[in-house]
Amino acid sequence: MTTLVNESGPEKTRSSVPEKRKLVIIGSGPSGYTAALYAARAMLEPVLFAGYQSGGQLMWTSDIENYPGFVQGIAGPQLMSDMRAQAERFGTVIRDEYVTAVDFSQRPFKIWNTLPDDVDPESMTKASSEELLEITKRVKEMEPAFEAEAVIISTGATSIMLDVPGEKDFFGRGVSTCAVCDAAFYKEKETYVAGGGDSAMEDTMALTKFVKSVTIVHRRDAFRASKIMQDRVLQHPKVKVIWDSSITEVVGADKVTGVKITNLKTQAVQELPADGVFVAIGHKPVTALFADQITLDEHHYIVTRQSHSHLGVAAAQKALDEKQLVAFPSMTSVEGVFAAGDVVDVRYKQAITAAGQGCSAALDAERWLEGR
Ligand code: NAP
Repeated sequence: MTTLVNESGPEKTRSSVPEKRKLVIIGSGPSGYTAALYAARAMLEPVLFAGYQSGGQLMWTSDIENYPGFVQGIAGPQLMSDMRAQAERFGTVIRDEYVTAVDFSQRPFKIWNTLPDDVDPESMTKASSEELLEITKRVKEMEPAFEAEAVIISTGATSIMLDVPGEKDFFGRGVSTCAVCDAAFYKEKETYVAGGGDSAMEDTMALTKFVKSVTIVHRRDAFRASKIMQDRVLQHPKVKVIWDSSITEVVGADKVTGVKITNLKTQAVQELPADGVFVAIGHKPVTALFADQITLDEHHYIVTRQSHSHLGVAAAQKALDEKQLVAFPSMTSVEGVFAAGDVVDVRYKQAITAAGQGCSAALDAERWLEGR
């Protein structure tokens, strides 16, 4: 069997007897670390699975200027390593490993971190959902690594990328997936936004406050974004749109200097000068492991009683307590399993909102464990 560990992390072996814990946290962005901090200070002795790339999306962000408390801003990796150290200071045990399967069908919940010998760890990130289901079925034939009374899922989300030449090379050097975070670095610059949904509209509006121009490149001749957001964007004097087109290459040397744009109807390619390229073609919450265990919404986000969706509203209504307050707002469809951060949040997706939700999930888990 193979234990999935961070290459730089310690090699761990699985004991044959599952380790029993009150709380296991899966995921290591701002929500996971904040949940761990609160849970550790509440003496829940949490174990946090940090995954292969601990720290989540902020590990790819250069300067964070909108996280309160840092007057001059802070580098994303620094903020994450500080959050990690703070969680550890109060006793969180951090495992730089992937969770490979979970069983939430009965308590205590079971958590695996191993793979059968013939499964390449790399294949887990590339597997289709059917293949993943097949692998997890085999994983569950082995002893789990942990048994937990409660679980907090904070596995976050990943931006969907264009997957074109130059995009990866210039990530953080002109290519970004967060205009709200990075717009201020593009004062009087030429910028491009890829996408036609609400995220693209929101990114465009965030950029207009700073940049010289924003050109939206959209693959069809109509946006899918809400009418009100479209109107706002289309009426803005700094905004242009190139319809029926895709960004097919990001060009540059040390940083981005241009984009190649292909008209999808004529196949004509033009190269235009650019300082910034914002990819806003959607996010994928990291929920494949939980798909057959808890309720997800139509975009695969985990549904809790505070989700911003009709499913969340329905769950909240069912969970009203005797005071007509929603009991354990961060609880998922499985009692004792909580979720926080971008894996739940279809709307805000900010480091500070994720951290806040991590705090709520830990407080809910603590209270729920006390009441059992
Ligand atoms: P989305 O609604 O799925 O839109 C993604 C956009 O990117 C679509 O226009 C799509 O084109 C385009 N796209 C997808 N793959 C592409 C590719 N490979 N190459 C080029 N273009 C591609 O995603 P989203 O905008 O992130 O929104 C997700 C959800 O969050 C939505 O329900 C949205 O309403 C919500 N949201 C709400 C707010 C708000 O209310 N303030 C803000 C952000 C997001 P097509 O149109 O051709 O498919």
